[in-house]
Amino acid sequence: MKCIICKHGETARGTTTITLERDHTTLVFKNVPAQVCTNCGEAYVDATTSAQLLAAVDAAIALGVHVEVREFVPA
Ligand SMILES: [Zn+2]
Repeated sequence: MKCIICKHGETARGTTTITLERDHTTLVFKNVPAQVCTNCGEAYVDATTSAQLLAAVDAAIALGVHVEVREFVPA
């Protein structure tokens, strides 16, 4: 698809690192599958993946995690 940030690049399948912060919890996910713009590097994560990330943050908050770096494992 065409990148909506720079409006020039095309996106290609790749991976990205996503940092999610909520309350006192920071989670960093590496190797998250995404469509990545070949021009500006903007990453687009699909709805299934973002739902999984948000669920993981909820679980981490419930466990009292403050900072954690994880490899993303698709459900
Ligand atoms: Zn772009």
